[in-house]
Amino acid sequence: EDEHERFDRKIEAMGVRIKDANTVKVRDDVFDEVTLLALYKLVQKKLITVIGGPISTGKEANVFYGERDGRGLAIKIYRIQTANFKAMNEYLAGDRRFSSVRGTRKGLIFAWTKKEFSNLARAHEAGIPAPEPLAFDRNILLMEFLGRDEVAYPQLRNAEVEDYGMVYREILGYVERLYREARLVHADLSEYNILYHEKPYLIDMGQAVTLDHPRASAFLIRDIKNLNRYFSRYCDVQDEQEIIKTLVGS
Ligand code: ADP
Ligand code: MN
Repeated sequence: EDEHERFDRKIEAMGVRIKDANTVKVRDDVFDEVTLLALYKLVQKKLITVIGGPISTGKEANVFYGERDGRGLAIKIYRIQTANFKAMNEYLAGDRRFSSVRGTRKGLIFAWTKKEFSNLARAHEAGIPAPEPLAFDRNILLMEFLGRDEVAYPQLRNAEVEDYGMVYREILGYVERLYREARLVHADLSEYNILYHEKPYLIDMGQAVTLDHPRASAFLIRDIKNLNRYFSRYCDVQDEQEIIKTLVGS
């Protein structure tokens, strides 16, 4: 029996239905013992009732489709072994909410997962279109699935957009609300971390920092530059300095 079947049996033993078992590509580095335990906790609490196929395999995390009582979930699993430990530490250390986190790789990744949950909650409370965070345990974050029929909305870079000028202004509005109301800077804003369906949605907020982070303004400038770089191909963009001034100023 291969690793794949062994995993499926473990998960099914937890009482979760596995959808399309052959598309659930299980890899050793994702489903280690820690991850299985976290998954087990979430299943026990009935926060996950179906696990589906992979949506994305990124540098630090894998995202799977899932369901809770028929409602779509995105299950984001930070990999303990392959995550970029050093880079994460810099974002955590400057953030007062997490500056006391020290020590092991595992501990850092758990803190990172909690940080993304908390950032998404702040964004969501500020009324910014972003996935609603639902729960987290260890290195696993559960959030609202942004998509339809198990297919995620496309990233902005792959989306069909009618009016780029309008979408640009909408996103600037989100950045402003994130700054003023949620008191956060996204810090990895790009056409990859925005999903689009009728309107833009901000995702991927593990690295977002509070305004008191020593590099918050540098991250803000980088976000605006990124947006302008992307949108300048499609529409007029505002002057970077002007954007920052209005944002930070009044
Ligand atoms: P990474 O750190 O790997 O970049 P992201 O949070 O950006 O992780 O997620 C990677 C991809 O997974 C996204 O580009 C998107 O396609 C999909 N994804 C992430 N969160 C959701 C969600 N809540 N709903 C639907 N798809 C999602
Ligand atoms: Mn991303």
